[in-house]
Amino acid sequence: MYVLIINAGSSSVKFTLFDKDDLKMVAHGMVERIGLKGTKIHAKTAAGKRVSKETRVADTRQAVELIADLLTDKNNSDVQPGADIAGIGHRVVHGGDFINRSVVVDVSVKQIIKKCFELAPLHNPPNLEGIEACENIFPGVPQVAVFDTAFHKTIPQRAYLYGLPYALYREDKIRRYGFQGTSHQYVSRTAANFLNKPLEKLKIISCHLGNGCSITAVDRGNSIDTSMGFTPLEGLMMGTRCGDLDPAIVFYLMEHKQLDPAQINHLLNKQSGLLGLAGVGSSDLRDIFQASEKGNRQADRALGIFTYRIKKYIGAYTFALGGIDAVVFTAGIGENSPLIRELACQGLKNLGIIIDPEKNAAINGTCGEIQSDQSQVKVLVIPTDEEKEIALQTLELLHKV
Ligand code: ADP
Repeated sequence: MYVLIINAGSSSVKFTLFDKDDLKMVAHGMVERIGLKGTKIHAKTAAGKRVSKETRVADTRQAVELIADLLTDKNNSDVQPGADIAGIGHRVVHGGDFINRSVVVDVSVKQIIKKCFELAPLHNPPNLEGIEACENIFPGVPQVAVFDTAFHKTIPQRAYLYGLPYALYREDKIRRYGFQGTSHQYVSRTAANFLNKPLEKLKIISCHLGNGCSITAVDRGNSIDTSMGFTPLEGLMMGTRCGDLDPAIVFYLMEHKQLDPAQINHLLNKQSGLLGLAGVGSSDLRDIFQASEKGNRQADRALGIFTYRIKKYIGAYTFALGGIDAVVFTAGIGENSPLIRELACQGLKNLGIIIDPEKNAAINGTCGEIQSDQSQVKVLVIPTDEEKEIALQTLELLHKV
């Protein structure tokens, strides 16, 4: 029996098929550029065959149908639709103020996902489409929704409310929600296993540094604060997002640059961060490193700002948690860049955080400890695996059904 994970995004659908018993990945892949010219499916099937072809897919529903055909195609695997799939786990971005855990999908859960469309207009609609497509293709197979925001539901009010009129929270639900919760939950749980200590006894700062970046303070398994806010724009500087910003800059842009809300949205989400500051025409850290190595001072400056922000949050969350046991680095940058890890932890000796340069350089995309013997705080690199976390949570819930 298998568990299927579907991550339906704004223009792509990713899927992973796990063996239900040992959570080994059996097949995985994605359909990308949905609704655009040059839609492609790339996959590794259950029979170990690599598939990569152009196709025509108009929407999420058709993409899920294509994935289901591939999974159940006799030449590629022997998965029987429905019969062999024990459950389907879906990544859903926003559960708003309504959902604080993963749930088995029913009519009321679908209504909640719909209610949150305005909070995540690019993500929740395709997430729901993915669920409804699976209901048609795999009738009777239980489906679970795992929300990006759910892990952060334990954040106390003092950390999730903004200094705005309270009515804006009460009536419009403007508050910090936090995102990337599935990743923060997975790496904090994995860090506890790695350290061979119960998660309930650990205070962890989890740094998810990918294209999107966020930091979470995890107190004995519970998120108590996180850097992304009402939307993923707040907090750390990211690939193309600006992160923390004085809101008055928005009025300045409106008045002095005559930008409208859509243009400002685009500027802050798509043209800022590493892309905007480094000015090398790319938000990919590897390109920025390359420019920096060639003496590009603008690229250096961007790296300095990027890592300073991480350090600032590590400091703030150390105090929010009242001391920490471990800092965890994860995602594309956190797992693969010793330099960013080093710069982010530089000068944190007073907080008990000291990196060992050799151990740090030796870890690239694998799990490991990188602190020095003198460091009071463990510094870990833990590759994230959101799909596996969704599979774990799906199976946990299916056992209860
Ligand atoms: P996403 O948020 O899209 O899932 P990822 O977690 O894959 O993103 O992270 C993408 C980022 O990771 C990019 O900025 C990329 O430059 C960076 N990255 C990937 N591999 C390396 C590497 N070897 N060294 C430095 N940065 C890397």
